[in-house]
Amino acid sequence: MNHQEQTDVLVIGGGTAGFGAAVAAGRQGLNVILLEATSKVGGVMAFCPGMPWGAAYPADKIVGGLMGELTERLEKMHPPAAEKRPCTLANFGPEIVYDHDIATLTMFEMLEHAGVNVRLNASAIEPTMESNQIKSVSCFDRNGAFTVTAAIVIDCSGDGDLSAKAGVPYTVGDIKGNTMGVTCSFHMVGVNWDDTFAEPDPYFTNFAAKGINEKRLHPDLAKLYLMKGFHHGSVFCNSVHVRGVDGTNPVAIGQATQEGRRRCHQLAQFLRSDVPGFEKAYMTLLSPTVGVRETRKLEAVYKITGEDLAKGTKFSDGIVCCDNPIDDVMRSDASMTHEAIVDQGGYYTIPFRSLIPANITNLMFAGRIVCADPKAFASVRGMPQCMTMGQATGTAAAIALKNNTSVQSINTKALIIELTKQGVNGLGETSLI
Ligand SMILES: Cc1cc2nc3c(=O)[nH]c(=O)nc-3n(C[C@H](O)[C@H](O)[C@H](O)COP(=O)(O)OP(=O)(O)OC[C@H]3O[C@@H](n4cnc5c(N)ncnc54)[C@H](O)[C@@H]3O)c2cc1C
Repeated sequence: MNHQEQTDVLVIGGGTAGFGAAVAAGRQGLNVILLEATSKVGGVMAFCPGMPWGAAYPADKIVGGLMGELTERLEKMHPPAAEKRPCTLANFGPEIVYDHDIATLTMFEMLEHAGVNVRLNASAIEPTMESNQIKSVSCFDRNGAFTVTAAIVIDCSGDGDLSAKAGVPYTVGDIKGNTMGVTCSFHMVGVNWDDTFAEPDPYFTNFAAKGINEKRLHPDLAKLYLMKGFHHGSVFCNSVHVRGVDGTNPVAIGQATQEGRRRCHQLAQFLRSDVPGFEKAYMTLLSPTVGVRETRKLEAVYKITGEDLAKGTKFSDGIVCCDNPIDDVMRSDASMTHEAIVDQGGYYTIPFRSLIPANITNLMFAGRIVCADPKAFASVRGMPQCMTMGQATGTAAAIALKNNTSVQSINTKALIIELTKQGVNGLGETSLI
C-alpha cells in the first residue's frame, strides 16, 4: 500500500546542493527528508569521484559556511583528507582536493548529526499541486510508491524534473538548446608524478594528438587534462567527454556511460604505453555513471546573467561569492572555454532570488538548476557554490516556516544575517577584500 509521510522539508537530490540544503534545514531544528535516487550522496561528486571543489576561494578567501566546515574537518584529520592546491589551468583559482571516500563518509555523518532522514535509492516522481503550492510528492523506492507531504520542497536534483512537472518554466542549455558534454572520469594509481608532470602542458596536447592520429584515442580527446589526485602517485583523468547527450533521458545517460567508460579504458591503456610515469599504473575509480554538467535551468524571480558577473555585482540578497571563469565544456562543437569573467581578485555573488520560482509558494531550488543565462551558468555551477546555494535554501526554509510566509516573501536581510552567522563569507555589508 502507498504509505504517507509528513515532514517540514523535503529535499530532492543528495548532491552537493542537496547536502547543503538538508544539513542547513536540519540544523535549524526542522524535520527533513532527503531523497537520493542513487546509493551515495554527492551527485556529480560521486559520479566523478575525486573531482576537486573549484571556485572555493574567491579573492583567495574560502566561501565559508558548510563548504568551509567540511573542508576544515577533512584538513584536520590524521592524516589530512583534504588540501588547498593551485589549479593547474589558467584563470581558475585554488581548489580543494580531497579523499573521495572520506569526504562522502563525512558528508553522510554531517547529515546524520543534523538529524536528516536520508533515503538512498529513493526518487521523487510527481508533485500533486493545490493551487500554487506543492501539496505532496509521490516517490518511489524498492518497496514501491510512497507519498511525502512537506511544508517546503527544495529541488536539488540537478535536472529539475519535479519542478518542471510542477509547472516551473525552464530553459535547456544555450540559446540553441545545446548542453555541455557529459564526462566519465577515472584515476590512475601508481603513477610516477615526477616523470609525468615534467610535461609542462596540462593538456598533454602532443600526446593526445599522437593517440588520435593512431586511432587509439577518440578524436574528442584532443586535450588530456591530467591532474595530480589527492593521494601521492594518483592522477585524476577528467577529459573523456561525450557530446550531445540529453542528461534528462536515462536511456541516453546509460549509453553515454558505456561509451564514456570504453573511452576511459582506451585512455588508460594509452597512458600506460605512451605517457612517461604511467608504466606501472592502473585504472581505478571509474565513473559509475557520467557526470552531467547541464540540463534544465529553472526560471526564477531573478535570472543571473553574464553581465552581472562581468560587473562583479554584489547583490543585496547575494548568498555566496564566486569568481569561477566561464567554464564551458564541449557543447555541440568540440570547443572549450575557460575565459576569466571577473578581474583577478574580483568576484560576484549569486542572488537568493535566482533560487525562487515566481509562483509556487513552497518550492525552492538550488545547485546546477539555478536560474542563470548560459554564460553565467558556465561560471556559477561549481560545487562550493552549489553547496552554499543549498545551505541558503535550507536556512531560508526555517525563516519561511517560522514566519508562516511564502518563499517569495522570505526576509532576505534576515537570511543574509543568518548565513553570515553560519560562517558564509562576503555577504551583505561584508566584503571578501
Ligand atoms: C564532469 C564534470 C566536471 C566538473 N568539474 C568541476 C570541478 O572541477 N569543480 C567544481 O567545483 N565543479 C565541477 N563541476 C560542476 C559541479 O560538479 C556540479 O555543478 C555540481 O556538483 C552540481 O551539484 P548539484 O547538487 O546541483 O547536482 P548533482 O550533483 O547533479 O546532484 C543531483 C542529485 O540529485 C539526484 N536526483 C536527481 N533526480 C532525483 C529525483 N527525482 N529523486 C531523488 N534524487 C534525484 C541525483 O542522483 C544526484 O545525486 C563539474 C561537473 C561535471 C559534470
